Amino acid sequence: MSDFINTFKIIAGPCTIESYDKLYATAKALKELGIEYLRGGAYKMRTSCESFQGLHDEGVKILSKVGKELGIKTVSEVTRIDKIEFMAEHIDILTVGARSMHNYALLKALSAVDNPIILKRGISTTYQEWVEASNYIKQSGDNKTIFCERGIRTFESETRFTLDLSSVPVLQNNYSQPVIVDPSHAAGDRRFVVALSKAAIAAGAMGLMIECDLDPDSSICDAKQTIALDQLQDIISFSKTYKDVFK
Ligand code: PEP
Ligand code: MN
Repeated sequence: MSDFINTFKIIAGPCTIESYDKLYATAKALKELGIEYLRGGAYKMRTSCESFQGLHDEGVKILSKVGKELGIKTVSEVTRIDKIEFMAEHIDILTVGARSMHNYALLKALSAVDNPIILKRGISTTYQEWVEASNYIKQSGDNKTIFCERGIRTFESETRFTLDLSSVPVLQNNYSQPVIVDPSHAAGDRRFVVALSKAAIAAGAMGLMIECDLDPDSSICDAKQTIALDQLQDIISFSKTYKDVFK
C-alpha cells in the first residue's frame, strides 16, 4: 500500500479474466509498458443475471499464475466472505467494488487479512460514509485502505457515472487517505478514458485503475470502456511528464 503513497501507480487489465492465454498475452504487453499491477475480475457483480458472471475460483488461479510468471502484482475484487481467505492467499491487493461498499459484514471480515484493500466508492456515497466504511476494514489502527473514486450517479446520462474528482484532494487533505481513480467505469466509453485519466493525475490521484486489453473489442465484459495499449501509453507518458513538471 505504501506504493500508492510514495509513487504514482497504474493498475491495468481486463474487466474480467476470460482465459489463461488471453490474460497472459495482455499482461505481458502491459508489463512491457512498465505496468506493475494487473487487474482482472473473477467473481463479477453484473447488473443482469444473464451476463457473464466470471470464472470464479478458476479466474483467481489464472490471475495468480500469470502474476507470478510475469512478476506483476495482482488486483481482483472480493465479493463474498467465504472467498476472502482463498483470495488473500493468491492475490496481492483485494478490491471491494462499488456494489459491495456497504456490505459491512464483508468489510469487517476483510480486517482479518494483511492484504491492502482497494475500497471503491458506492454510487451514491458521501466522502464521510466512504471513510466510515473504511474503518470497518482497519486492523488495530493500521489503515490498509486505498480509496478508489469510480464515479457517482447523477442526473447526467451521457457518461456511465459522473467522475467526482473533488474526492481526490478532499480525501487526501481532510482525511490523509490515498485516493486512486478508475476512469473506465465512470466514462463507460473508451473515447473519454484518456482525458479523465489525465484529469485525475492533475487532481493529484495516487494512481489509476484502468480497464485495458490487447484487443478491447473482444472483451466479454465492459468492452465499450476498455482501452487499447496505445491509449494506455498516452496516459503513461502524460503521468511521467506531469509528475516531472509539477512535482
Ligand atoms: C470493476 O472494477 O470491475 C467494477 C465492477 O467496478 P465497480 O465496482 O466500480 O462498478
Ligand atoms: Mn468492468
